[in-house]
Amino acid sequence: MRCPFCDKDNTRVVDSRPVEETNSIRRRRMCDSCGKRFTTYERVEAIPLVIIKKDQSREQYDRGKIEAGIMRACYKRPIPVEKIEECIDAIESEIFNLEDREVESTKVGELVMEHLKELDAVAYVRFASVYREFKDVNTFMDELKKFLK
Ligand SMILES: [Zn+2]
Repeated sequence: MRCPFCDKDNTRVVDSRPVEETNSIRRRRMCDSCGKRFTTYERVEAIPLVIIKKDQSREQYDRGKIEAGIMRACYKRPIPVEKIEECIDAIESEIFNLEDREVESTKVGELVMEHLKELDAVAYVRFASVYREFKDVNTFMDELKKFLK
């Protein structure tokens, strides 16, 4: 990026922080030629993401839904909220990194399970039991055994 003071293309970012209200990133830049600093704002483009449900109906992607599912699975588990948030962030960035406009809900479910597996065993099994709709105790036990191996 060109320096607005000396017009040399010799600048670097010295600090970046998100601005929540405007969904943008504020960057402090410094010019290595003249030493002056300036600020730029980068807008994060909102990518409309659609989730394809099992019955093929579509709905707008909603982070809150993933959050609710994970919170339920982590209920009363000794997991810091911070860790849960990190887990949701990781899942969300994987979803967006797929770079598809439409993502199957099953794909989202698999991603959540993958991450929960690393986070907490009980939370994982809880989520899997709801998500996979275990019909009976045997299928549930099979899944549990697979996980414990
Ligand atoms: Zn400069």
